[in-house]
Amino acid sequence: MSHLCPVCNGFDTLQEECPRCQQPLIDGGRLYDYYGDYSPYREIDDSKLDNGYADFIHHQCLHACWCPGCSAEQTVIVQEWNAFEQQKKQDV
Ligand SMILES: [Zn+2]
Ligand SMILES: [Zn+2]
Repeated sequence: MSHLCPVCNGFDTLQEECPRCQQPLIDGGRLYDYYGDYSPYREIDDSKLDNGYADFIHHQCLHACWCPGCSAEQTVIVQEWNAFEQQKKQDV
């Protein structure tokens, strides 16, 4: 696996504010975990494989967050790290 989500892997914390009341959102975990095998990206992958866009989309981790203030649910997109590039930088 060359890409990883810094939030899921504990390297970073999710820092998003509620659009309604500006409270820091609570990270409820990956959306993927809730849906199991269902992949919302499958359609995009199949149709846009050749323009690089699918790759960009695929390396994002969707987090289901909620606001402790107003209980609003918010989907936060976390850009995943390229673990291979990170590794190369560390080697130099
Ligand atoms: Zn994640
Ligand atoms: Zn709120």
